[in-house]
Amino acid sequence: MAGGAADFRSDLMAGIPAAARAAMLRAAGEAPEMGLRDDPHQSRLERMVSELAGFEDALFVPTCTLANQIALRLWCRPGDIVLTAAGSHVAGPEAASTAGLAGVAVRQLEAARGHLRPETLRAALAGPARPGDQPARLVWLENTHMRAGGTIAPGDWVREIGGTCREAGLRLHIDGSRLWNAEAATGLTLAALAEAADSLSLSLNKALGAPAGSLLLGSRDFIREALAVRATLGASWRPVGFLAAGAIEAVAGRAGRLGDDHRRARLLHAGFSHALGPLAGEAPDTNIVLVATPPGTAAMEVAEALGKAGVLALPLDAATLRFVLHARIGDAAVARAVDAVRRAIA
Ligand SMILES: *Cc1c(COP(=O)(O)O)cnc(C)c1O
Repeated sequence: MAGGAADFRSDLMAGIPAAARAAMLRAAGEAPEMGLRDDPHQSRLERMVSELAGFEDALFVPTCTLANQIALRLWCRPGDIVLTAAGSHVAGPEAASTAGLAGVAVRQLEAARGHLRPETLRAALAGPARPGDQPARLVWLENTHMRAGGTIAPGDWVREIGGTCREAGLRLHIDGSRLWNAEAATGLTLAALAEAADSLSLSLNKALGAPAGSLLLGSRDFIREALAVRATLGASWRPVGFLAAGAIEAVAGRAGRLGDDHRRARLLHAGFSHALGPLAGEAPDTNIVLVATPPGTAAMEVAEALGKAGVLALPLDAATLRFVLHARIGDAAVARAVDAVRRAIA
């Protein structure tokens, strides 16, 4: 369908790096495991990323949605309130899981470029709950923030929010599906970026290009309980040694890789700015570029016109198109997208 097209719809389209494919093939020739965390590749992956991110333990799970939902189940009881910035994935694309699997209510607070200001959180905690409201149990940050265009959370905000949570007896989870991009863009370690959090989720299959899977990270006790929750959700997947082997190579090969995506995202945005002016929005922090369609022009229609020119973009809502940079998008594809957008919109 998308053969030959420049596919900007998602960093899921990055494809699997050669080193990861080779590692998968080698691991696929070994004896499979029983699934009780006894696979050497899975253990290596979980240890490697626990160390990178500064957590005691990690668990390899099929999707980042599942990593998030296990965290919700462990930190909250049904009916509890979770506080997050407006537009978070947990309250948007993932909302049905959040309601159906965890049974929690997400309160979306005012966001600044997708992120929660410490004073906004403090005001929400100080404000009167409605009669019958359960107490807020968990604060939920997303870094980078997808819907805001891959924006990076200001480090001092995250630290201060961590302090507020500790004082108020709340837990803090970071949906770090794309925390790798924040790591590449800021030069900070994952451990520094996630220091304030009690738990963290990371996608392995987006810009990194692992074949599948995500990680949930936390304390040793938290991960022991996560193992049980994963089982109740029918997600004790096995054998997964060959997937973990591919993921290890994808993690190891990320240095430089993501920086290229960020450079091309800035190039793409500069081209859009030149062609469209303010519709191109602000310059990207990482690998996501959002474009507003002109009043009266539906994003879906523009996406169709772009598709005919061999450029695939994802409508996020009626008036916003998303372009995500990844390993299969080179400089020529960026130039092609700028040209196609100029013809379709300008
Ligand atoms: C993609 C994404 C998820 C969910 O990941 P899946 O592996 O598709 O379930 C969660 N949070 C954010 C911010 C995402 O972008």
